[in-house]
Amino acid sequence: MTSISARLEAVRARIDAAASAAGRDPGTVDLLAVSKTWPAEAVREAAAAGQRAFGENYVQEGVAKTEALAGLGLEWHFIGPLQSNKTRAVANAFDWVHSIDRLRIAERLSAQRDAHLRPLDVCIQVNVSGEHSKSGVAPEAVAGLARAVAALPRLRLRGLMCIPEATEDVALQRARFAALRALKDALVAGGLGLDTLSMGMSHDLEAAIAEGATIVRVGTAVFGARGAA
Ligand SMILES: *Cc1c(COP(=O)(O)O)cnc(C)c1O
Repeated sequence: MTSISARLEAVRARIDAAASAAGRDPGTVDLLAVSKTWPAEAVREAAAAGQRAFGENYVQEGVAKTEALAGLGLEWHFIGPLQSNKTRAVANAFDWVHSIDRLRIAERLSAQRDAHLRPLDVCIQVNVSGEHSKSGVAPEAVAGLARAVAALPRLRLRGLMCIPEATEDVALQRARFAALRALKDALVAGGLGLDTLSMGMSHDLEAAIAEGATIVRVGTAVFGARGAA
């Protein structure tokens, strides 16, 4: 069995190689280790190997892990679908939310973020795959939503996130990621100070890095296949 620390090392090597191949500084690509479904002990093992940022998809499970591992100095990112009745727990247990897809959720997160915490870092999730995917805002609606989210006092809009359809077609992977990058570039040209492209997972992180990813969200390649532990 491969240890989490060995897998982490292999993923970091993939990231570094992809960045170098794209002529980018590997230090500009952050690894978010997606720990959904894995117990707190697995996160502790990854943290001991030097991993700091972890991604969770489910509110109850994620909040429980942030509490169990408080004090380790970890950074927690919420990356799953978010219902409005669950925003309060997320607003205060997490450092980032990647999955903003409507203004109502953003408004609630801003209103519910504790005053003693720094503003919550957020990304808007964009549906770059059209009918292949149901989550995320349509590309045409990104600019309006981004302006509204950027104006909320307790949020800091950092950039855009996408989860394209799973495909082995590298040209298609790159086209989806390039589309997200173009949307971000347009927002930056319009005056928003965005610095984040959250894109790329275990199977397509090379394509994402080639197209400018600054955060890759990697679960399987770090922790193993979910449900096969
Ligand atoms: C599960 C998940 C990931 C990680 O997927 P892997 O294929 O296991 O690397 C990344 N992003 C989101 C939003 C996820 O839900």
